[in-house]
Amino acid sequence: KRTIIAAGNWKMNKTPTEAAEFVTALKERVKDANTEVVVGVPFVCIPAVKTALTGSDIKVAAQNMHFEDSGAYTGEVSGAMLSDLGVDYVIIGHSERREYFGETNETVNKKAHAIFKYGMKPIICCGESLEQREQGVTAEHVRYQIKIALLGLTADQVCQTVIAYEPIWAIGTGKTATNEQANEVCAIIREAVKELYNTSVADQVRIQYGGSVNAKNAKEIFAMPDIDGGLVGGASLKLDDFEIIAKSG
Ligand code: 13P
Repeated sequence: KRTIIAAGNWKMNKTPTEAAEFVTALKERVKDANTEVVVGVPFVCIPAVKTALTGSDIKVAAQNMHFEDSGAYTGEVSGAMLSDLGVDYVIIGHSERREYFGETNETVNKKAHAIFKYGMKPIICCGESLEQREQGVTAEHVRYQIKIALLGLTADQVCQTVIAYEPIWAIGTGKTATNEQANEVCAIIREAVKELYNTSVADQVRIQYGGSVNAKNAKEIFAMPDIDGGLVGGASLKLDDFEIIAKSG
């Protein structure tokens, strides 16, 4: 059985000081959580968060990474740098990065390879816009995103990959996909992984739902058969809410 993963995506929130304070409190609260708990924090918060989390099972995710090893890429952060800080996961392909920062399926794929090269695991985001959902092309769109994102990865690597299905129209809008809508697309993604690899890989890859997950709806969303947890934005910034979500496995 797949372990439910409750991951917070803080986006551009919290200073290093605030971040350390938050995770210091969080680690006590989620000691007995029945999920794998992950905090996706801004780059500059990672050292403080790692220090504060000493002795805790909470994993740390970065929210982006460059795919090159090093070089003249002003303002970018490499896999070696993140790995050196003890980062476990890197979130890639988030719709905000696709929309505002030129992330494409191709850069997501390059980043996925680089993340594994440096001993970390990717959380690969995908999801359709409202327009695409209304046009009835959700399945094709998401299948295409995943196919390109996974190109060239080994079966073993895909087993360690987390895929986050985040319908763009449900992000930060308070508008959640229904449990059935979310599960349907997660099942489509699992089927695509099966076609690209095999049943065993499809059974092992974890697929999260993201988009207005909160303390009230997490449990029923995480209970859906093809949904293995959540990638949580707004509600991951609040201790009370994220504690409940982390215990919703
Ligand atoms: P919200 O939970 O704030 O809707 O954000 C979802 C998200 O984008 C997580 O990556």
